[in-house]
Order: sequence, then C-alpha cells, then structure tokens
Amino acid sequence: MKLLITGGAGFIGSHLSEALLERGDEVYVLDDLSTGSIENIDHIKGHERFHYTIDNVLNRPSTAEHVDRVDVVVHLAAAVGVRLIVESPVHTIETNVHGTETVLRVANKKKKRVILASTSEVYGKSTDIPFREDSDLVLGATHKGRWSYACSKAIDEFLGLAYYKEKKLPVVVVRLFNTVGPRQTGRYGMVIPNFVRQALAGEPITVFGDGTQSRCFTDVSDVVGGLLGLIDHPDAVGEVFNIGSQQEVSMMELAEKVKAMTKSKSEIVLVPYEEAYEEGFEDMPRRVPDTGKIEKLIGYKPTVSLEQILERVIAYLSDS
Ligand code: UDP
Repeated sequence: MKLLITGGAGFIGSHLSEALLERGDEVYVLDDLSTGSIENIDHIKGHERFHYTIDNVLNRPSTAEHVDRVDVVVHLAAAVGVRLIVESPVHTIETNVHGTETVLRVANKKKKRVILASTSEVYGKSTDIPFREDSDLVLGATHKGRWSYACSKAIDEFLGLAYYKEKKLPVVVVRLFNTVGPRQTGRYGMVIPNFVRQALAGEPITVFGDGTQSRCFTDVSDVVGGLLGLIDHPDAVGEVFNIGSQQEVSMMELAEKVKAMTKSKSEIVLVPYEEAYEEGFEDMPRRVPDTGKIEKLIGYKPTVSLEQILERVIAYLSDS
C-alpha cells in the first residue's frame, strides 16, 4: 500500500512511518518541519520505500501531487502542544482548519481514504468520565485561547464527517489522547518530556496548578498499533475513535515517579496556571478515554505501562 503521512517528520508521524515501512508499505511524508524535525526521520531517509518532501500542506499543488500518488492519507500535520496554542493562536487556528480543508478537498477528487488525526482536547472540560466518542464536547469561552485548539480540531472533525456523508469520501477520525515516547519534545509544553528533562538536569520539576489534575498516557507504539488497525479496517470509515489508555495518574504523582525513577535531587514546585500559561487559563481536571469502540473493531488494547513509558523516555533523554 502507498500512504502519505502529513506531519510525518513529527513525533507520532515518524513512528508511524517506521511501522509502515516495516510492514512493507511505501511511505510519502510531507512536513514543513515547523514542530517536526528532520532528525526524527534521519534513520529512515535512505530507505528505498521512503520519500519525503519539506513543504506545508497549505501548498495545495504539492499536497495534491502527493495525494494523487497514494492510496491512503494519514493527516497528522497540525499545530499541537498547549504552549504553542496559547502563544500562537492565529497560527494554530489557520494551520489546523485550512490544512485539513486542503487535504480533504484534494483527497476527494479521487476518493482517497483519509485518516484524520484529532485530539482528546475536543472533549474540553467535560467531567463525564470516561469520554466516549458520542459524548458532548464542553468548551470554554472564546477569549480563552486554549479552547481555540479544541474548536479548530472539532471543525476538522465536522468537515471530515461532512465529506463522508455528503461526498462519500472514506474518512476515519481518530482522537488521540496524551501520547508519549522517544522523539517527543518538551518544547511545546508536553508534561512527560518536560518533567524528565528537568529531573535529569537537576532543575525544579514544575507541576502546574495544584497537581491533582490527572491524565492517562499512552506509549506511541500503542497509538501506532491503533492507527495501523484503523488504516486497514473497512468498517472504520465514517466513524470517530478514541485512542488512549485508562491508566490515570495525577501530575503530582507523575512528578514524584519521574523524580524517583531518575534518582533526581530536583525539588517539585507548584506553578500557578496563570504563570505557566496565561491569565484565566483553564485546565481539565481529568481526561480518561473510553476505548471500547476501537477495541471492539480491531482488538486494540494498550500494552505499555506508565513505568515502561517513563523508562523509555528517560533512556531517550539521557542519551540525547
Ligand atoms: N503540566 C505540568 N507541568 C509541565 C507541563 C504540563 O504540570 O511542565 C501539566 C498541564 O498543566 C496538564 C498536564 O500536565 O495538566 C498535561 O499537560 P500536557 O501539555 O502534556 O498535555 P494536555 O493534556 O494539557 O494536552
């Protein structure tokens, strides 16, 4: 099979590219290296079934040419990371909405299958745990920048599902929950690489808010497994799927685990949200996926524990 991965030089995209090459597929990557990095694909650049182009998905002729070559498009290119979103809201909204619009429009010409990456962020501050694909989305006020990310990805989902309904374009929407692993950078705010880097450097480990908020972390290899299953399955089309894990941990517990596992002398400090992000920043207290739907369809089950995830990230950041 031939696949185009937009954002293929990013953290998740580079792991997905690797897995597709391993199973014998031909992989085309389109990435503008805005948050991705050429180092993420250095080790596969020479592979005979791997091709990459440094360009933005908003460049329609280039995206159209790539989409034409392949059977399936996995659209991962997006502005991600809460810090980036708070600091560059215009970039976030435009990249996410116009990028998806471009991909869907060009894919529609020859009805190419599109796997559209969305995010658990779309559930917003809903407290109806666990989040099911048909749950309500609960977003905050429009002057609070964080919600623009959720809203931009929700528009992507609406558009993808509208293409499916109205134009019979085979679209699959996946909502990725907190994904972690080697090559993820802490630069855009992601908590695990941040904590591990701080602990290894002996710097204070910065827990935002009061540290009681919790997340469920999934290893990138499990996320890639889920994506591979959905890429192939005929009944995934026109549907939305959560991909995540249910192993919940509070940010304070996480900081303590990272400190212990790195044998770090770093102190754990609480940083108010308004200092970490911006005045009036709203965080979600819990975020737990219901993964029953993807489990039923493709037998998806996360296999990597939080301890193993942390071991892998610690090994990766100790070496780099
Ligand atoms: N967080 C933290 N310290 C950091 C970075 C993040 O305590 O240095 C918190 C953040 O406020 C959130 C959680 O960790 O409650 C997960 O943040 P991340 O940006 O990784 O993902 P999110 O779930 O917010 O998309």
